[in-house]
Amino acid sequence: MASQTAVPPTTVFSSDTSCGAVGFVTMGCAKNEVDSAAMARALKGAGYRVDAALEDADVVIINTCSFIQSATEESLDAIFEAAQLPRVSCGDAALIVAGCMPARYGDDLATELEEARAFIPCSKEDDIVAIVDGICGIDRASFVQDPAEGKNTPAEAARPIECAGEPFTYVKISDGCDRFCSYCTIPFIRGRYHSFPAERIEADVRRAIEDEGVREIVLIAQDTGRWGQDLPDTPSLAWLVEHLATQYPATWFRIMYLQPEGITDELLSVMARYDNVCSYLDIPLQHVCTPILRAMNRAGSRASFEALIERVQTAVPDITLRTTLIAGFPGETEEDFEELCDFAAEAPFDYIGVFPYSREEGTAAFDLPDQIDEEEKVERAQILRDTADAACAARIAQRVGRTYAVLVEGTEEDGQRYGRAQCQAPEVDGITFIERGEIGDIIPVTIVDTLLYEMEGE
Ligand code: SF4
Repeated sequence: MASQTAVPPTTVFSSDTSCGAVGFVTMGCAKNEVDSAAMARALKGAGYRVDAALEDADVVIINTCSFIQSATEESLDAIFEAAQLPRVSCGDAALIVAGCMPARYGDDLATELEEARAFIPCSKEDDIVAIVDGICGIDRASFVQDPAEGKNTPAEAARPIECAGEPFTYVKISDGCDRFCSYCTIPFIRGRYHSFPAERIEADVRRAIEDEGVREIVLIAQDTGRWGQDLPDTPSLAWLVEHLATQYPATWFRIMYLQPEGITDELLSVMARYDNVCSYLDIPLQHVCTPILRAMNRAGSRASFEALIERVQTAVPDITLRTTLIAGFPGETEEDFEELCDFAAEAPFDYIGVFPYSREEGTAAFDLPDQIDEEEKVERAQILRDTADAACAARIAQRVGRTYAVLVEGTEEDGQRYGRAQCQAPEVDGITFIERGEIGDIIPVTIVDTLLYEMEGE
């Protein structure tokens, strides 16, 4: 997570197993989705099957998000809702609270949430099987060894979890963050930056493509550009992306959450040379006024960001650009805010996410002077959002008449087919309505109309 971002809708999936039944509720961002999927795979590999309703689960796991207050409140709602499930409330089923909330609030949670049987912070999610086994009373030592698999789990359960039907998936390449932006809780929740080894990333990519039929891999992390700097031989993100793109030429690869410092010429060159590496950059800038950026403990300035954008567009002329901006940071004057709006109107971004500053306990910015009152922050965010929408919609309208490769994704309730072009990241940038196409196919589509962020093609 590279910014204060909106909390996407809750997703729910569940699993019932020969050992017991497990149901998940995942709150927050794509990184949490990846973590839930990893926990589910581990549980399935240990003998837990997948298709029970949440109400029938023996164990309900709420994978929480708490990087800002509103996300914490949504996670609490999900916990209280799960606590009222008939089997949970009568004690037949156990409730586990996992993810960011236990990481952020530690032992305080146990006294506040007596409904929960266990708390698993992000750093302990690898222990999920042992914890669920303990709750379900599973003694693995008593299992019959499966000679074919060489491990004490049913062979069927060792198969990978089924794809939910989406032709894209997220693959996490690292976790944690060392940047300590003054407003952000992530370094305290997720810990120090640590890259995942290339072999692990490759295995996740291979499983998604070969076993689940995925056509687009979205590489995510809190800070994707830093990948490899803490690994032996310090491989770069550019190397990783080129390696994956060469191995899987029929799959799109997209990189999200690239801090300005992580955008190297080497990476831009890979983006320009490979058709299956999306010409798309999500660069969270957060602000453009130098004093505000410094108060945020972030580098850069409006001039350096404009120079970066020029460098990016020279290297990859058809690139799509996204950013996120925060309105109402402590000390933001009327002039600072006007400059931010001016930047949103002028800079060539196709998508701009706008968020009011959220004052989070435990962060350096919590104690900064000149905090802006809540109403003013919300008002500034709305003005900035309207400015960004007007500028971005005009840029997107310029796509009419152009032909894009579109990944067919699904069908609306009214039968309308839809997909996404490389210029549209999943879940945040809108979709392209199309006339036909098989889900998972990549087809050429000419854009005939746009409506704000949606495109219509034929
Ligand atoms: S501290 Fe890290 S995760 Fe948080 S906003 Fe800064 S770069 Fe993003």
